Amino acid sequence: MPAIRLDGKLLAQTIRLEIVARVAVRVADGKHAPGLAAILVGDNPASHVYVRNKRKACEEAGIRSWLFPLAANVPQRDLLNLIAELNANPEVHGILVQLPLPPHLDEKAVLDAVDPTIDVDCFHPENVGLLAAGYPRFYPCTPHGCLQMLRRTGVETAGKEVVVVGRSNIVGKPLAMMLALKRTDKNPMGGDATVTLAHSQTKNLAEVCRRAEILIAAVGVPGLITAEMVRPGAVVLDVGMNSVDGKLVGDVHPGVAAVACSLSPVPGGVGPMTIAMLLENTLRAAELLDG
Ligand code: NAP
Repeated sequence: MPAIRLDGKLLAQTIRLEIVARVAVRVADGKHAPGLAAILVGDNPASHVYVRNKRKACEEAGIRSWLFPLAANVPQRDLLNLIAELNANPEVHGILVQLPLPPHLDEKAVLDAVDPTIDVDCFHPENVGLLAAGYPRFYPCTPHGCLQMLRRTGVETAGKEVVVVGRSNIVGKPLAMMLALKRTDKNPMGGDATVTLAHSQTKNLAEVCRRAEILIAAVGVPGLITAEMVRPGAVVLDVGMNSVDGKLVGDVHPGVAAVACSLSPVPGGVGPMTIAMLLENTLRAAELLDG
């Protein structure tokens, strides 16, 4: 039987409707609608599409959004000044700096300049530290999207063997951390799983992946995960978003559908969940700033 399709588009729509309702209550209470400032440096076509989609999702949820397009050669000082201004604006509850940045900009310095209380991507070291300690202020968007996808489709992670392939700061590393963390009142998305974090130096990747009851690929190599690498009946999430001949494809080979119990598609899987979690974080930041 082919794998069940984990429909991220539908799940994200449900989450977005929940956010619409929470935003409406907030506004009816006389509070500011949440607001997200998006900074887009240069003219990377994929970045433009991502930012457009994120802003459209904000508007549909009743979240205000502002776009700050900057020239590819913007001096770092100007970008840092803009972030400082946005940090000080009480109507801004989230700052999104779309990555990648042009090479002349110091990505770490730029991301560290975002006030941690409105760091809705959860990239700031303070927020990474809080997450690691089990007291998250925000959950990072793509890892949270993966966890929500599992929760909302009834896949329990507690006690499961989970393999995450890819250890980037944006996806793999925080995802593995969230999966491994203890589930508590302060950390409801803790996965309580037994986690292996694989990467380019992992020996016998196929063997490691076959141990997984839940396998998550966040690599950026089209079709890397093939059917032989998947334990029969496993749940497989494909985070990859790779452009091949103008078509968006994941890190998981289509043949995996014949072996897995369920599989998230690309497109329409983890991608829409990531956007929904960005909205969630922007609303959460506004709620936390209310006190
Ligand atoms: P990244 O920063 O390039 O990291 C890739 C990771 O994969 C690295 O840890 C790397 O190992 C590992 N890797 C590379 N080749 C490998 C191989 N052959 N075997 C095992 N591990 C290998 O990428 P990223 O930002 O995490 O993104 C990964 C993918 O997810 C991309 O396709 C990206 O477009 C997509 N993505 C999707 C979303 C979404 O919302 N769906 C969000 C973000 C990213 P080393 O650390 O050893 O180099």
